[in-house]
Amino acid sequence: MKLTARGRLAHRVKWAGITVLLIALAAVAGWGVYTLPAPVVDRMLKTDILKQSELWKRRVLLHLNDPETALLTGNIDPHDAEFLSSMPEASDVYRFNLFDTAGRIVWSTRPEEIGSYETRAFFRSDVARGMTHYIQEALQLSEIDGLDLHSEHTHTAMQHQVAEVFIPITKNGRFIGAIEFFTDFTDLRTTFITRLRVSLSILSGIALFALASVSLVTYRTNRLQVRALQLQSAKERNLMDEQLRLAREVRLLGELNEWLQSSRSLDELFDMVSRFMTHILPEAEGSVYVYSNSRDVLDGCASWNDGTHKAHIHPEGCWGLRRGRTYEYGASEIDFVCEHAVPHDGRPYFCFPILAHGETVGLLHLRSHEGNEEVFHSNRKLAQLCAEQISMAIANVRMRDQLHDQSVRDPLTGLFNRRHMTETLRKSISRSQQTGAPLSLIAVDVDHFKKFNDTHGHDAGDMVLRAVGSALEQGCDRDEIACRIGGEEFMVILPDNSPEDAVTRAEHLRQAVEAVSVRYGEKSLPRITISVGVAHYPAHGTMPQDLMRASDDALYSAKDKGRNQVQVAKGTVAVEGIAAKPRQSPNTVPPQSAA
Ligand code: GH3
Ligand code: MG
Ligand code: MG
Repeated sequence: MKLTARGRLAHRVKWAGITVLLIALAAVAGWGVYTLPAPVVDRMLKTDILKQSELWKRRVLLHLNDPETALLTGNIDPHDAEFLSSMPEASDVYRFNLFDTAGRIVWSTRPEEIGSYETRAFFRSDVARGMTHYIQEALQLSEIDGLDLHSEHTHTAMQHQVAEVFIPITKNGRFIGAIEFFTDFTDLRTTFITRLRVSLSILSGIALFALASVSLVTYRTNRLQVRALQLQSAKERNLMDEQLRLAREVRLLGELNEWLQSSRSLDELFDMVSRFMTHILPEAEGSVYVYSNSRDVLDGCASWNDGTHKAHIHPEGCWGLRRGRTYEYGASEIDFVCEHAVPHDGRPYFCFPILAHGETVGLLHLRSHEGNEEVFHSNRKLAQLCAEQISMAIANVRMRDQLHDQSVRDPLTGLFNRRHMTETLRKSISRSQQTGAPLSLIAVDVDHFKKFNDTHGHDAGDMVLRAVGSALEQGCDRDEIACRIGGEEFMVILPDNSPEDAVTRAEHLRQAVEAVSVRYGEKSLPRITISVGVAHYPAHGTMPQDLMRASDDALYSAKDKGRNQVQVAKGTVAVEGIAAKPRQSPNTVPPQSAA
């Protein structure tokens, strides 16, 4: 795991802390090493010197003929005196005195001191009571006797460590005098202290090293634990992010589904798809294509997120449609670019065939945005779910459209039925009432159709009815609609046509039907004609049934007048606020040539 700048700083501060701590410990250890040894060594040497003093005392007493008398009287035999005088040469004692019980010096390496008294209190309180008294002091070299005896060990500049030991002499438990030794143990002390310091230095060095090692190991272990915890928390965070992402996707998919289910037309549906896809898959641009009615091409319906769609694409040009399953460009080593994805810049894309009730109805095309390829691939499942939602929604809208068509269309001709015609006429009248726009209604009836049926059969009659329906439909523009209101009767609603134009259009329709030629099996059926009646709003009625009746009346008038012609409804209906144009009746439009 990489450390951040802040992490690196914390790391350095930690190490600096540990280093300072170790330096402090080293300083404390150094101070200890320097100061601790002296008192310890002095205590060791004191024990040694006291033992040694006992030996010196025994040597002195062994050489004296009669120590008790000698101490009591101060008379030392010359032979003994010679021995006593030679003692500083033969031992580490550089000076010593013999005392009687009163503390008077009876013999001394310094003859001038013989006869003087030891007046210090410890003599009476300790020594005279049989206790050894030890004094350690630092003296200048000039205060030490026997310089010549220890010349190689002497250091003129420094102070010398000297021990002064008073040892009581007893006989049968009775105090008979004392002996005082002076010994210089400077060198011994220095050697001991140096050795102890070296040992302590080594020991504290080892201890410091061990401490540093333990600290390092502890620190490393802690770091590893912290790292493991960080990894763990990063994992948990990722898991949480993933769960939040999934929850969001599920929510968006649910919302998409709800909205798509409520869409009433494919246009509205594709508008919703565009908006939702921008949110659900923001890293991809997309487009939707739907099969045209002819099913030879797919029409581009919508695109989003900077995506574009072509007006038409060929199903053979898409690998997803050709193979009948999702095609993912950019997932394999070898990929082929779909025709509809050209121009192609190498970005990965998905083609999801849109299926409705087992039939392929369209294509959802998604292409990754530059730099978002990884996220794009990881969202394949989500994109697939979106494609399924869109498929279901398209199927729903189509089914609804089919049901609606079935309820408003005539199954034989495909034209609108009577119910829809009445409804549309009512709406058109209402619109004209509000806007003052002209409106006309044309009634059509096939001439002598019973006879036609009887002669050529019902099936041939049906074919003719289909052909008539088709001719009427093709004769309609924009908002104009042709309807089959029953049998061989039709009606055409013509909004926004002046009465004159409407009559002309009726005549054109009559000519169009007259020109229809229907083949039935091997032969062509005889041509048929229609009689046409025209009524205008508001001149011939302001209600649907009035207009229908008026156009029907005009139609029968046409029949009466010999069929295959156009007649306009008779008379006018005065309507308040609307200037009805009076017309002469009957208004015959003479049949024109079909050319
Ligand atoms: P007219 O010129 O006076 O209108 O004479 P007509 O024979 O067309 O009039 P009539 O109303 O007597 O006959 C209508 C015929 O239309 C009766 C029926 O055989 C025929 N017809 C009605 N509906 C259909 C249909 O759906 N298919 C076929 N083939 N014929 C139909
Ligand atoms: Mg009829
Ligand atoms: Mg008829």
